[in-house]
Amino acid sequence: MSESELIEIAGQWNFNYNYFAGESASRFFRELRENQRIMGTRCTKCRRLLVPARAFCDACMERTNEWEAVGPEGTLDTFTIITTQFPGLPKPPIVMAYVTLDGADTALINLVHGLDMSDIDKAARRLNSLPRVRTKFIDEPKGRITDFSFELI
Ligand SMILES: [Zn+2]
Repeated sequence: MSESELIEIAGQWNFNYNYFAGESASRFFRELRENQRIMGTRCTKCRRLLVPARAFCDACMERTNEWEAVGPEGTLDTFTIITTQFPGLPKPPIVMAYVTLDGADTALINLVHGLDMSDIDKAARRLNSLPRVRTKFIDEPKGRITDFSFELI
């Protein structure tokens, strides 16, 4: 027995809950649902357009005050390919990517659809070229991040 041995204990969390999204996130999600547009908020100090919209700038800690739509196209910044099934996510393999939409100064993460995933290495090489993408909304948006995804142009 080692005095410094760290003991590993198995655990599992599995519960449902609701939370209030707050003022800025609520409007962000309402804009998805009602107008099928992605909105950011502009920092009063550094003037960056933060997407998704937030009440305070993460760099300046200043309040944001202007709402602006971004996209619908943008540039893929980075990605990951998920090959394991996670609760609440589509059947793997799936692509999650950070995309900076046109007009935005920060990236937004969401699923990328429409890519041939039968050859994952080939798909990764295509994504590594940091391609242009466009947002695609579902037919009946519900005010959730799953209301849209990205597809390669
Ligand atoms: Zn700022």
